[in-house]
Amino acid sequence: MKITRILAYRVELPLHEVSYHWSGGKSVAVFDSTIVRVETDTGHAGHGEVCPLGPFYLPAYAEGVRAGLRELGPHLLGEDPRQLAKLNRSMDAALKGHPYVKSGIDVACWDILGQATGLPVCELLGGRYGADFPLYRAISQESPEAMAASVVRYRAEGYRRFQLKVGGDPDVDIDRIRAVAARLERGDRLVADANTGWVQHEAVRVVKAVREVDVAIEQPCLTYQECLAVRRQCPHPFVLDETIDSLDALLRAKSDLAMDAVNLKISKLGGLTRTQQARDLCVSLGLAMTLEDSWGSDIATAAIAHLAHSTPPEFLFTSTDFNSYVTVATADGAPRRVDGRLAASREPGLGVRPKLDVLGRPALEIA
Ligand code: MG
Repeated sequence: MKITRILAYRVELPLHEVSYHWSGGKSVAVFDSTIVRVETDTGHAGHGEVCPLGPFYLPAYAEGVRAGLRELGPHLLGEDPRQLAKLNRSMDAALKGHPYVKSGIDVACWDILGQATGLPVCELLGGRYGADFPLYRAISQESPEAMAASVVRYRAEGYRRFQLKVGGDPDVDIDRIRAVAARLERGDRLVADANTGWVQHEAVRVVKAVREVDVAIEQPCLTYQECLAVRRQCPHPFVLDETIDSLDALLRAKSDLAMDAVNLKISKLGGLTRTQQARDLCVSLGLAMTLEDSWGSDIATAAIAHLAHSTPPEFLFTSTDFNSYVTVATADGAPRRVDGRLAASREPGLGVRPKLDVLGRPALEIA
């Protein structure tokens, strides 16, 4: 089997909540997502999706996905999409770095491998655990009272895990954590994600001020060293995200006992092949994971679901259903949340059928 054509579509994704706010005053109202289609000489076609959280979250931006594909795509024509390790070596040989550019191609090729073998991607990634898995809801940064009200509303929809967007004014963040914690029930899980927004001394203040609260702290500061310093004074479970972008970073953090759980995002690591490698290493090392992506719609959510559903439940800290945040459906067959939980499709591949009318004309075509 050979790759014969690569297409990319630009899709705008508005939000049910109108806009999403996190640390440092950053926000996005309409996400710019790229859906990648890989076609083959056997008639199989696979899909992937890459949607950065704006241009100021990770070293990634929406137009960069398309620019990178223009550079990378021609090198992949003629490659066998089922030979994923080899394909990833070819991508790394043709374009150094830029993992988020490669992610959509890699996911599309897993979709093809699943279709060609008749197996859902989660079974190819190691096997399906249980009937479904739990999701978290990201709570956009607002006033403490508004965030507490959001948690109550989303719990009524079935979520039991909540990730507060903090990383703003430290005194207001203390109020945010306390206001939300006061509304939680037994069995709920709370994470305060500062998304690199605190300087070190303020982060130490916050984690000590909420000492009595059952909350995990995620990525308080910009650098690994700052996070490690906070971690050593923090009484709470600790999660690293933005600074863990490679196996090297993961192994260093494990060696330093720098975290209790880690957030792995498919496009941050460069696709399902790389994320599976990191995921399996975490299981061997005894590290729980949030498995997700930076953002996306139905196709990104399908890829996340296959990854999360193939992870031993005791190591799955939580996961995300981005397709319930956005107002546009990009594919049929994508998983849909039920009572705060999600399940990967049982169809071969990702199990999604892109809505061609929503995708429109391709933004680029490589053949
Ligand atoms: Mg995070």
